[in-house]
Amino acid sequence: MVELLFCVALLAGFLALGMYKAPLWAWAGALAAAALIWRSEAVHGHTGLFGFLLWLFVIAFAAMAIPAVRRAALTAPVFKFVKGTLPKVSDTEAQALEAGTVGFDAELFSGTPDWDKLRSIAPIVLTSEEQAFLDGPTDELCRLIDDWQVRHAQREIPEKIWDFVKAHGFLGMLISKEHGGLGFSAQAQSLIIGKIASRSPDVVTIVMVPNSLGPGELIEKYGTEEQKHYYLPRLAKGEEIPCFALTGPTSGSDAATMRDIGTVIRGPDGKPAIRLSWDKRYITLGPKATLLGLAFRLFDPDNILGKGESVGITVAMIPTTHAGVQIGRRHLPSGAAFPNGPNWGRDVVIPMDWVIGGEAMAGQGWRMLMECLAAGRAISLPSSATAGTKTMLRLSSAYGRIRKQFGLPVARMEGVEEALTRQIESAYACEAARAVTAAMVSRGERPSVISALMKYQTTERMRRAVNDAFDIHGGRAICDGPGNYLQSAYQMVPVGITVEGANILTRTLITFAQGALRSHPYLYREIQAAQNADNERGLDAFEAAFGDHVAFSVSNACGAFFHNVTGGLFASAPDKSFDTAHWYRQLARCSRSFAFVADLTVASLGGSLKMKQKLSGRLADALSELYILACVLKRYEDDGRLSSDRTFVDLAAMNGLYRFQEALRGVVDNFPVTPARWAMRVVAFPLGNAYRPAPDYLGHRAVKLVLDAPEVRDRLTRYIYVSKDPDDPTGLLEVTMKKAVAAEEAERKLERAIRAGTLRRYHGIDWIGEAMAQGIVTESEGQQLRELEALTARVIAVDHFDPASLKPNYKTSGGPLGHNSRGVESAAAE
Ligand SMILES: Cc1cc2nc3c(=O)[nH]c(=O)nc-3n(C[C@H](O)[C@H](O)[C@H](O)COP(=O)(O)OP(=O)(O)OC[C@H]3O[C@@H](n4cnc5c(N)ncnc54)[C@H](O)[C@@H]3O)c2cc1C
Repeated sequence: MVELLFCVALLAGFLALGMYKAPLWAWAGALAAAALIWRSEAVHGHTGLFGFLLWLFVIAFAAMAIPAVRRAALTAPVFKFVKGTLPKVSDTEAQALEAGTVGFDAELFSGTPDWDKLRSIAPIVLTSEEQAFLDGPTDELCRLIDDWQVRHAQREIPEKIWDFVKAHGFLGMLISKEHGGLGFSAQAQSLIIGKIASRSPDVVTIVMVPNSLGPGELIEKYGTEEQKHYYLPRLAKGEEIPCFALTGPTSGSDAATMRDIGTVIRGPDGKPAIRLSWDKRYITLGPKATLLGLAFRLFDPDNILGKGESVGITVAMIPTTHAGVQIGRRHLPSGAAFPNGPNWGRDVVIPMDWVIGGEAMAGQGWRMLMECLAAGRAISLPSSATAGTKTMLRLSSAYGRIRKQFGLPVARMEGVEEALTRQIESAYACEAARAVTAAMVSRGERPSVISALMKYQTTERMRRAVNDAFDIHGGRAICDGPGNYLQSAYQMVPVGITVEGANILTRTLITFAQGALRSHPYLYREIQAAQNADNERGLDAFEAAFGDHVAFSVSNACGAFFHNVTGGLFASAPDKSFDTAHWYRQLARCSRSFAFVADLTVASLGGSLKMKQKLSGRLADALSELYILACVLKRYEDDGRLSSDRTFVDLAAMNGLYRFQEALRGVVDNFPVTPARWAMRVVAFPLGNAYRPAPDYLGHRAVKLVLDAPEVRDRLTRYIYVSKDPDDPTGLLEVTMKKAVAAEEAERKLERAIRAGTLRRYHGIDWIGEAMAQGIVTESEGQQLRELEALTARVIAVDHFDPASLKPNYKTSGGPLGHNSRGVESAAAE
């Protein structure tokens, strides 16, 4: 019994030493004390095998505490091994890895998140000018948009919309005031983009693209003074329409392998110039652009620039009227109307001055793109996808409340409630994460890992929200026409999924496989050290990182095991976290498990992690759940801990932790290295699964709140455009929902009478008049019901057409064409 107690105390001592990263000499001392106690009469009385092992460890730890011994016996052999096994990180990979900043993601990777860092991120704040722009011109733009006209009747963004966005400066939100732009914060841009997206996913592209990675941002950051002075005011006013061309037929996700080539030559005036051949496709705004931002690989065979033969990826801006530029044809992306098309050119000569940043920046294109990518990726898609999710909830909750089957609003039925619950959770969580991420960018961060996870998580959640909206609407969503307010979102879902890094790649490769290197506190330092050409200096740098890394790993192993065994009871929660302290503790507990599993994954798989995408994808999911839940807790605090929102927080927390667990469990169960798999199982799941999905009653409560408390529904769908116009299909929903709630009591009386057979509800019968005559409802209730009946008939109506009017509204003469990778045009196969 005493021996058992001794072993428990020993284990507890090890956990404490490990968790608090005790130095090696402290381990040696503690082990020596344990060996002496074991030998004492009170415990065991003689040394035995166990006592012998204890002394062996004392010697090993004491020896390792001596730096010279540690270096010779441990660090140098590990360094040699790592050097031999690590794949070489290419220049483009290194630039991608080093670009962007590390933010709160590093806290989640550390296993011991510093909650103050989360709380120090500003809540949503806009200047009065930004707020006025959001409430004024942005609302007005939304009112101007006629979705059916845009995506069907005209299949074009109407000129009046272009004129409006140009006149109000929408195209220059990221251009500084100094250069004639609006100079809005990332938070303001995110909200403005979101509001427009909630009205028309088509129209938002013409605002989003100029305010994302492209000529405007690249010139603002890297342009020469002449380029800034000439182009930025013109871009801000919409006198130039930009596009940015990176993707080509053979270089999609793997953009760095582009075959587009520039060769440095001497121009007619003797100055360096570039002869260009390129072939790009899918370029948004391309067909309308006046200024083509073009990425290509630059070579300088005569070393005119003095940078060697292979100069590297370079970005230039080319007026689309320049001789040889082939631009203007269109793709038909998912049947949407925003301009998108290919462009190409052969042996087009441009002056060196057109390189963004001039000659000095020739060859720096990839670095420039990678540096700007993270900020843009954190704003455009997360904003529009979040707005899409909130819009789906707003429309589905209204329709589900109005549409009745089996005598009940369909939203009151449990099956539909499930779909609405998913929309509610996503609307709350995506908005929380969007706001935190935009605030990070507003304060100058360029969060590379967070932007990647936000891109794929928000667009995936939007995809699910759109599908749920379709299910809730039934046939009403499927039949297209001017009254269909869901089709545009459905059409644009795949676009959001594919652009700015297709989701499969972003989830399985970018977020974790690259993110682990970026956000891990020591890993990238170790890899850089291993790649140092100077072996001695490399070993010095490696030694500094490796020691800390081992302490970090041991700390996470001990911490994760301890918190998993104790249910997170002793994990950290910030001051004044009150009713959400429990969720903070669970987050901290999960962060420990994640850090341990992530660390062991990278250590065991090394360079082959890139190929183990089923594992890295699950780890990306696990990290995403932790980040999004942290944002949910922050939103709850920033919003003033509203009691109604507690339901949404609990919903998001329970489901988020459950999804986290399933993702991590998937990694552990499928881990290919057996000893690592066992270690992961013991540390991360010592008592099996800890979390279950949110119970049904919570979903029921959440949906009830949305249906019965208008202010809660407003808050969940805040910052989207809400029409109040009964002649607008979405405004009609809003007006009718209000009337349906007001007439609830009268409707109940009517339904009772119909069920009892007192009234008959068939075409050709005035059952409301009958109900009034029989005194089933009062006169005023009858009027309410008549009004509701008429509005509901309009809400549930679907459009039908004269067949002749459904003939294609675009001409096929003059196209379609395909062109092969050499730019030779040919009639495309049918
Ligand atoms: C409507 C639209 C607008 C666009 N606008 C622009 C624009 O303005 N400018 C511009 O330059 N580009 C633009 N693009 C291009 C867009 O960025 C690319 O479509 C995207 O990068 C994917 O390339 P791809 O379509 O060739 O797919 P591919 O690269 O062929 O990928 C096919 C599939 O394989 C997956 N995959 C690829 N590699 C990996 C990997 N290593 N690991 C795991 N999965 C992988 C991808 O995730 C994807 O699911 C646009 C595209 C569309 C559809």
